Amino acid sequence: MEKEIFVTKSSLPPLEDYVNEISNIWESHWLTNMGIKHKTLQALLKDYLDVENVELLTNGHMALELSIQALNLQGEIITTPFTFASTTHAIVRNGLSPVFCDINPDDFTIDVNKIEALITDRTSAILPVHVYGNICDVDAIKNIAAKYDLKVLYDAAHAFGVKYKNKGIGSFGDVSCFSFHATKVFNTIEGGAVCFGDKNKDFGLDIYRLKNFGIRGPEIVDAVGANAKMNEFCAAMGICNLKRMDVCIQSRKRLVDEYRSRLSNVDGLRLDEPQKEVEQNYAYFPIVVDEKRFGATRNEVMKKLAEHNIFARKYFYPLTNTFDAFHGRFDVNKTPVALYISKRVLTLPLYEELDIKDVARISNIVLSCKK
Ligand SMILES: *Cc1c(COP(=O)(O)O)cnc(C)c1O
Repeated sequence: MEKEIFVTKSSLPPLEDYVNEISNIWESHWLTNMGIKHKTLQALLKDYLDVENVELLTNGHMALELSIQALNLQGEIITTPFTFASTTHAIVRNGLSPVFCDINPDDFTIDVNKIEALITDRTSAILPVHVYGNICDVDAIKNIAAKYDLKVLYDAAHAFGVKYKNKGIGSFGDVSCFSFHATKVFNTIEGGAVCFGDKNKDFGLDIYRLKNFGIRGPEIVDAVGANAKMNEFCAAMGICNLKRMDVCIQSRKRLVDEYRSRLSNVDGLRLDEPQKEVEQNYAYFPIVVDEKRFGATRNEVMKKLAEHNIFARKYFYPLTNTFDAFHGRFDVNKTPVALYISKRVLTLPLYEELDIKDVARISNIVLSCKK
């Protein structure tokens, strides 16, 4: 029986490190509601992410949902369907309509040449996704947003620590939302953050209030908020994991280099190419299988890996605009590139502790499917 390898495995700090970090909680009895761990992690992340402001939340989804609420957006938001359920759900759960823009086939992010045709007088914002840590064309998006007076919120759930032109990716757009879920490059068990610039200080106060029921002061509740405060144990995990981030990203890089050396230049397999002027985080290793040239389909490759107890995942399939939850409300043929990719993409295992020999083995199994 071959050992099971999943697409990811959560990073953990040494146990002693975590125990040490949480031990003074037993003196303070302060478990949640913006305690010392929360404030410490907030300051550390502001630095690490190279952004002007950070608010910590229970998860990345609430970061998106409350950001949309805090910006007081209305009507329609332009987004992409090649993402995790959260992005689309955050829009719909705020009572707004997602308008789906196609992606570009090279880096899977929003196709900036197709945004303007989707803008109507109901459009209030653009919500693009830095898919797999590939960054969107932030310069073009900024220009479009300025021309039509739209807000820009980035779903940066995959882009922890990514830099563009030496600037933290969380400093682009009006708001960027990160996820610190257990499966992400950096985790706080569950967690997330909203990053924003100094010019949006009021927005920051609103997020702070909305993550705590809309409470402004002891006797003033002036917004219908949620409960989305990161607790002290999650923040402590973040403090410990952050210390190991650079090592963690270096191991990921080494594994990605190994995959690339084995799977590059194979007819019918397309890899995710590094982008110019981007400092990567090596979050995922997707391959796109063109069945005509490769001689096997994505599903066949996935099945072959599973026979060896290796569980790759179809990130992202199905597209969010085909979810049963929406009862056929959206026309998937309006996003043909996303549809094409979602049927052919497979994300291979990648995490800090993955053995480089397993990368060789996984690559060989993929290659053995070629006809
Ligand atoms: C993980 C993820 C989220 C949601 O983050 P959670 O912390 O799990 O709530 C949102 N968008 C994308 C693209 C994600 O991958």
